[in-house]
Amino acid sequence: MAEATKAPVVEEVKNCPACKKPLKKARKFYRNGAYYCNNNCFKKVQATAKASAAEAAAEKEAKAAAEKPVEQSQA
Ligand SMILES: [Zn+2]
Repeated sequence: MAEATKAPVVEEVKNCPACKKPLKKARKFYRNGAYYCNNNCFKKVQATAKASAAEAAAEKEAKAAAEKPVEQSQA
């Protein structure tokens, strides 16, 4: 008999992106494609994501402004 490749039986334990605690099945709090331990941790991550997004947007804006040719009216 050919021995099938043994699939390692590893229970996937995901950690909360906010507090890094391992999430237990009963305590999963699913929001926006990710698991958190509770709404508090979700909000925490949301705030962090929002802040980094705003930062990235500001950076992009600054870059665009720097690259934008300055129109000088020659008159
Ligand atoms: Zn958490």
